[in-house]
Amino acid sequence: MRLFAASLHTETNTFAPIPTDLESFADTYYRPGTHPDHPTTTASALLVVARRRARSDGFTLIEGTVTGAHPAGTTSRQAYETLRDEILAQLRAALPVEAVALGLHGAMVAHGYDDCEGDLLAHAREIVGPRVTIGATLDPHCHMTPTMLAAADVLICYKENSHTDFIERAGELVTLLLRTARGEIRPVSSVWDCRMIDLFMTSREPMRGFVDRISALEGKDGVLSISVVHGFSGADVPHLGTKMLVATDNRKAHGDMLAEKLGRELYGLRGKCFTELLTPDQGLDRALATPGAPVVLADCLDNPGGGLAGDSTTILHRMLARGITDAVVGALWDPMAVRFCHGAGEGARLWLRFGGKAAPTSGVPVDAEVEVTKVVKGATQNFASSVVSIGDAAAIRVSGIDVVLESTRAQTFDPSLFRNLGIEPADRKIVVVKSYGHFRAGFAPIAKDILYIDAGGPYPSDIRNVSYARIPRPIWPIDPDPHGLGL
Ligand SMILES: [Zn+2]
Repeated sequence: MRLFAASLHTETNTFAPIPTDLESFADTYYRPGTHPDHPTTTASALLVVARRRARSDGFTLIEGTVTGAHPAGTTSRQAYETLRDEILAQLRAALPVEAVALGLHGAMVAHGYDDCEGDLLAHAREIVGPRVTIGATLDPHCHMTPTMLAAADVLICYKENSHTDFIERAGELVTLLLRTARGEIRPVSSVWDCRMIDLFMTSREPMRGFVDRISALEGKDGVLSISVVHGFSGADVPHLGTKMLVATDNRKAHGDMLAEKLGRELYGLRGKCFTELLTPDQGLDRALATPGAPVVLADCLDNPGGGLAGDSTTILHRMLARGITDAVVGALWDPMAVRFCHGAGEGARLWLRFGGKAAPTSGVPVDAEVEVTKVVKGATQNFASSVVSIGDAAAIRVSGIDVVLESTRAQTFDPSLFRNLGIEPADRKIVVVKSYGHFRAGFAPIAKDILYIDAGGPYPSDIRNVSYARIPRPIWPIDPDPHGLGL
């Protein structure tokens, strides 16, 4: 038994101002056989798991390239085609294989390609032919396209939002691919389009119960896997939207019925699965009034994990204006300010301009005398079992607030981002993070409360204000009744 595994991973926000080019993949780029034994992206977990399973299950793993770029704007044609062709050449050289496992995102868009993953999977299918089994792990914030479904035998999305289950899902995919290759099962996919754009927090009801219920259905009545495709609203593409995906062991009619039943149930939960957004001052007021510490404020619309810059200073300016101290903010993306801090060195005091540079919606930079408290070359943070680069980084203190500056644009996953820069966030009253959901698993154990802030962008907080031109219609909430239920 020979299984080929590779990974290509980025999430494209077609509204974001920062282009994704080949250089954007340089930080997380591993030639075959050189990837470490821990995941470096959620998608790379597939290769790490496949390695373990090759040893325990006794199959031969042929490794391809593993690479990922932090979410940003549309990928250049050259970057996508270069990485695609590299992986496809490796697959060709690996033949014959019985199975192909790809760790993907599912919302990668390149110039000339609305559906990079569909294109990659279709090319892989062309190379291996109809008999070889192909599967992929996907981020729930993907666009589940007909091309992807036609080319792959089995697709599995992470169930948790903040994607902390990437190891389990990778393990499931490897198991299903091996069973398919041995002729034990024949996976078929059923999809139901909920015709909606929405956000889903799986850490609280009603979504927690929904995810637990679909998990309990797996392994019964021929159901192999069930995924909620959340969809990704930051892309103007023809296959955007929330969908239910059910993989059965050749029980298409049952899968279709179940996908529709669960999809209609999910449609009934629309608008109820996220949380209220506060203004910066409302958030700060509530944090200060909360007994105990820390209170975590998520600057959730400036989330590098959604392709945005992560350098908005709006909340920090309010904290400085209000004289708030005993707080940490991080990470702000500002490679130039990081460079200046490294040049000045630890312990130095200097006048620094930082943040607020990528776009008008990032606010204005902070100009202040700061103390450089720590500088780290090649800093990292943890995300579940993966180690994520934030590039060279610096910690500065400004008017009693500690700020972490990073040079590689990454969302705030985990308290280790601060700790690796010498700051203990659990000891502070207020912790401001740049993330929309992935921070939650890491910060919840230390947080007295978690609040979500709408600091005015850069991304619109109301889907109805996004200037889409190419998404499928009708779709809720732009169209109030897409299923014609007469509501
Ligand atoms: Zn995601």
